[in-house]
Amino acid sequence: MTHRTDVVVIGGGQAGLAAGYHLRRLGLDFVILDAQPTPGGAWQHTWDSLHLFSPVAFSSLPGRPMPVQSGETYPDAGHVVQYLTDYERRYELPIMRPVAVQAVHRDGAFLRVEGDTGTWRARTVISATGTWWRPFLPTVPGQGTFRGRQLHTVEYRSPRDFAGQRVIVVGGGNSGAQIAADLAHATELTWVTQRPPRFLADDIDGRALFDVATARRKALESGRADTGGVASLGDIVAVPPVREARDAGLLKASPMFSRLTADGVEWADGTRATADAVIWCTGFRPALSHLGPLQLRGRRGHIATDGTRAVDEPRLHLLGYGDWTGPASATLIGVGRPAREAAREIAGTSPSRRT
Ligand code: FAD
Repeated sequence: MTHRTDVVVIGGGQAGLAAGYHLRRLGLDFVILDAQPTPGGAWQHTWDSLHLFSPVAFSSLPGRPMPVQSGETYPDAGHVVQYLTDYERRYELPIMRPVAVQAVHRDGAFLRVEGDTGTWRARTVISATGTWWRPFLPTVPGQGTFRGRQLHTVEYRSPRDFAGQRVIVVGGGNSGAQIAADLAHATELTWVTQRPPRFLADDIDGRALFDVATARRKALESGRADTGGVASLGDIVAVPPVREARDAGLLKASPMFSRLTADGVEWADGTRATADAVIWCTGFRPALSHLGPLQLRGRRGHIATDGTRAVDEPRLHLLGYGDWTGPASATLIGVGRPAREAAREIAGTSPSRRT
């Protein structure tokens, strides 16, 4: 069966909900298609101890502030799932679940969205599918020979699964540092990073990061020099568990090894370490395979955008994937602004862009 609507939003995580909030305010006819059976997007799948890197006041979507979580300055992932669940109910967002979109095609004046339960024809599509669903694993010699367990961030849950084991955590970003900190007390940990870890100052949390991203956006918008944004400050937010493990001397990083062996890893100088498990905290790529038929992919798998709009397909907007779809748009507090701009462009009310 084929449905007709003005706008299809693909993805019902925070980015899709922020888009829905603004589309609703502008009175557009739309539907949100989400592959998950339940609300919360990727937050439903993170490891048990994950907490946000900013307090609730700096973790809210447009319209509805995130409530404080009792006893926690930095809320946990379960609290975010509850918040997103309440958010979509409160605004009565038209979400269909589970619907996995397999392909988006050009179809005359429309875009045709093919899902596993039906087809939608829309004037405009907002893709808001996140990155969690496309874990990135580097190619390292010997990967096939290692007899232990290899997993990515997306599969990690708890130190209980590795108690007493020799674990190698690969990755110098936030996931790597947080998972290494999580494992530091319960396992024989080796933390491996490509370059020496760069911790942000202890007083910098998500709020300060948002301010820095905002300052960068303003500088770029007014034609001033690029301030360098968040990346200029460091890679790792020193959230309390990371700070504690670091200060206890448990987060000493080793350089990247050159290959895996049958029972561990080996560095270029011949040094070896045995391991029961290697956890690859090596990042994500945007989950854009459903847009394949539009043939828009460019550098690093991104799609060229002007704001959120795809340069080569003006009926398509991309939301929430990273700075290339709006400064800080891959955060709870940051996605509201590009969502609003996308909705305004779609409604033809944007003061700054052509529709
Ligand atoms: P997602 O939450 O991934 O939602 C996308 C939705 O689209 C999912 O429900 C998915 O099932 C669905 N989908 C995907 N493909 C399809 C398809 N083909 N068809 C239909 N549906 C589809 N941000 C903060 O603001 N503060 C933090 O403290 C913070 N910590 C983070 C910690 C980690 C470990 C990670 C990975 C990210 C963190 N982020 C944080 C960043 C960001 O807020 C999250 O990644 C967030 O989940 C991104 O939301 P999203 O809506 O873009 O994507």
